[in-house]
Amino acid sequence: MIRLEGVSKIYPGTGTGLGSTDLEFQPGEWVALLGPSGSGKSTLLRLVAGLESPSTGSLNQPHRRDRIGFVFQDAALLPWLDVLENVTLPLILKGRDRKSAQELAERELDRLRILPHAKSKPHELSGGIRMRVSIARTLIQQPELILLDEPFAALDEPIRIELGLELRELFSHLRPTILMVTHSITEGLWLSDRVVVLQGQPGTVALDERSTLGPVRTLAGRGDPEFLSMVERCFVLLKGRGNP
Ligand code: ADP
Ligand code: MG
Repeated sequence: MIRLEGVSKIYPGTGTGLGSTDLEFQPGEWVALLGPSGSGKSTLLRLVAGLESPSTGSLNQPHRRDRIGFVFQDAALLPWLDVLENVTLPLILKGRDRKSAQELAERELDRLRILPHAKSKPHELSGGIRMRVSIARTLIQQPELILLDEPFAALDEPIRIELGLELRELFSHLRPTILMVTHSITEGLWLSDRVVVLQGQPGTVALDERSTLGPVRTLAGRGDPEFLSMVERCFVLLKGRGNP
């Protein structure tokens, strides 16, 4: 379990960052992080990843650095490598032989339904396919913890919905712990098991609740009355209009 006790990160001279935060993340849990711009969402991810050290408090994070996957809005693929080469790269860098790295990469490409694009270069692909490549490159490292920072922000809504549903299905088998920053209240609540809303500068936890939806998500779930009432409560918080 990942545990933050009184963890804060205040950037010197700014007074901003993440205020004192107590949170626990259970293994296999998918948590959506919502909050206005500047409320410390990315800071929280970087703290958990060990890319930033806390100003105060204690942070217990049991996963090895190489079992933590980070996925950003920008797929950040190397433009001169094809899809297969981009996905094998993390393993090649760790000294794995090319043949077995390729076999593993093909399995991930197949899981993300992009095997036919194996020989394409990133510029030949749509944003949605590039994001799938980026996710495949993360999954090949068998992450126990996946940190997603607005992964779908650059994608059109139908693509986001399709990819979100597929990832929900895939991750229900792989069971990594997932922390996902998103700007979309509906998307965050719909895909995750739990939602944490940050508020203020420095940001602190304003809401932390489990999803009312069952484990299997459908488009129809977005119309569920309990779901919609939670969307509304998050909306009110994010607009800064008071308590839920
Ligand atoms: P969010 O991801 O919620 O938009 P961030 O975690 O990126 O917020 O940033 C929280 C606050 O900390 C912002 O006010 C931002 O300007 C500030 N901040 C983030 N990173 C740094 C940094 N490296 N140096 C100084 N201030 C920073
Ligand atoms: Mg951010």
